[in-house]
Amino acid sequence: MTHEMAVSKAQEIAGSVLAPNAGQNDRAGRFSTEAVEALGRSGLLGLMLPADIGGSGLGPRTFAAVVAMLAEADASAAMVYLMHILGGATIAAARPDAAQAVATILQDICAGRHLSTLAFSEAGSRSHFWAPISRAHRNGHGVLISAKKSWVTSAGYAQSYVVSSLAPEGAGPTDSTLYLLPAQTHGLSVAGPWDGLGLRANASAPVTLEECPIPSGFQLTNDGAGFETMLNLILPLFNLGSAAVALGLCRAAVAGTASHLKRAKFEHLGQSLGESLPTLRAHLATMQIETDGLAARIDDLIDHLEKPRETTMLRVLESKAAAGDTVISVTSTAMRVCGGAAFSKHMNIERLFRDAHAGAVMAPTGDVLREFIGKSLLGIPLF
Ligand SMILES: Cc1cc2nc3c(=O)[nH]c(=O)nc-3n(C[C@H](O)[C@H](O)[C@H](O)COP(=O)(O)OP(=O)(O)OC[C@H]3O[C@@H](n4cnc5c(N)ncnc54)[C@H](O)[C@@H]3O)c2cc1C
Repeated sequence: MTHEMAVSKAQEIAGSVLAPNAGQNDRAGRFSTEAVEALGRSGLLGLMLPADIGGSGLGPRTFAAVVAMLAEADASAAMVYLMHILGGATIAAARPDAAQAVATILQDICAGRHLSTLAFSEAGSRSHFWAPISRAHRNGHGVLISAKKSWVTSAGYAQSYVVSSLAPEGAGPTDSTLYLLPAQTHGLSVAGPWDGLGLRANASAPVTLEECPIPSGFQLTNDGAGFETMLNLILPLFNLGSAAVALGLCRAAVAGTASHLKRAKFEHLGQSLGESLPTLRAHLATMQIETDGLAARIDDLIDHLEKPRETTMLRVLESKAAAGDTVISVTSTAMRVCGGAAFSKHMNIERLFRDAHAGAVMAPTGDVLREFIGKSLLGIPLF
């Protein structure tokens, strides 16, 4: 699959499967299994996996374009896809001792039969996902893990979970190890409902692990090396993907607002809202400027990921922080411009506005990213 083919498949799924059902799924808080099936059939679930195991071997540029395309139609489905791609990338990067055990799962992902996700955040350390409270204990064949994972996208729908836990002999708070837990693992259960303000259709419910047995073949990183994988593999892709979700939401907000300004009429003046009011045109223009600014920032991050250099980690941190602010600003302006019609849920703008607020609170949160950037500019250790 080429970049163009992947984007065109995403566009087709966004138009035929996601867009027609996004509003209804949002209202019902319903996870779209149809979206996952369509992504599986199209080959997009294996987008970034190596070609020699059946994946498409595509890079961050295609990933961001596909995520933005999906998010423009349905940010919930886009976030499910994003977390899956991260789960798949982590499984594919498994240490050599796990390669054989995870081979079938990677093949299933490439065949479109397997959805994965990340289960890092814990009730005890909240948004500080890099510092799990849970600790793995050796049981002779591998480890046992008990943990309270506070939010897990696709909980109850994923076929596997990439889980963090302190290494059995880990000495510090970030000495974690990553493990792969198939959904049917004994002791793994979805521990509550998901009824969020936004991203209501992505099943981000809590998951409890009670003495879950994990064979050594499903230990994805070396003992204590989970943090390194989170930082070097997962964080850059997560921040890029989150920024791409924000971009899709911004584009949808601009399109929805422009369409409203053309359609809605002041009949007593014989003009549309857009023809009648320069303030609304100026707000729309500001939304477009902010959206294109975010697109340029994402392009710059992709360039840094493709050609890593000294400023790459700074760009990784900046991108998600900036995207979180931009998408809240653009969708808030859309709410104001579309007035009572948006407020009364006559159009999709209020869903975009609610979905937009998830990015800034998903870890690393916008505040935490600023804290990291500020500390690094001042030469203060981050952890
Ligand atoms: C829709 C959704 C999907 C999610 N999906 C997943 C998933 O698939 N997997 C997963 O592991 N997690 C997931 N999460 C969890 C998410 O990544 C965060 O861990 C969670 O939202 C943090 O919420 P909290 O109330 O625990 O935040 P808290 O840690 O209580 O933070 C509260 C406030 O304090 C601020 N704050 C915290 N620490 C600092 C600091 N050091 N410096 C400055 N400010 C700080 C935060 O920015 C925030 O404003 C999801 C969350 C949501 C909302």
